[in-house]
Amino acid sequence: MRKKFQLFLFLRKRPSLKARVLFHFILKGTLRRDFFAHVKKEPGGCWIWTGQRKKKGGYGRKNFGAANIKCLYSAHKLSFLIANGIQNWDELPPVIRHTCDNPPCVRPSHLLGGTYKDNVHDMFERGRANRPKGERNGSAKLKLTEVTAIRKSTGTLKEMASTFGVSITTVRKIRKGESWKGCELPRGTA
Ligand SMILES: [Zn+2]
Repeated sequence: MRKKFQLFLFLRKRPSLKARVLFHFILKGTLRRDFFAHVKKEPGGCWIWTGQRKKKGGYGRKNFGAANIKCLYSAHKLSFLIANGIQNWDELPPVIRHTCDNPPCVRPSHLLGGTYKDNVHDMFERGRANRPKGERNGSAKLKLTEVTAIRKSTGTLKEMASTFGVSITTVRKIRKGESWKGCELPRGTA
């Protein structure tokens, strides 16, 4: 009876197919067991997903299915859901970040719920973003590495302008910190 009521409350929220399939396993009480069958606790502190991995990025993933329906779930998102007692897949935070920067890790204490904005900020902080802040500006002619070189250089404005193919004003603004404000290469790469 209690399960039926839980199901009623859940379905009232008009859940997605993914959420419905997963809820079936939550109600059955087998989600946690199925999940932890694929987890290996490493001495370094991370809990590594031993099941299927996504080719790009190395994130773990797991299939759950009912009858002829199969749904694929991110392993670290499943872990966050289980650890936080979330029953509806649709109610997960849009982004679950790894504080250990180890994609196959599913240890709940290494995961942090957040927004897309947080995630981009995180990637930038860690130097994994392909295009740092200043470069994302469509009109940017310089790369962050070049901006850093200009900041560090001791040559004249004119020399720098011709070396990097930009105007003297651009070089002056970079040196004064007026443009590319807050854009720095991650530590250790400069
Ligand atoms: Zn970890």
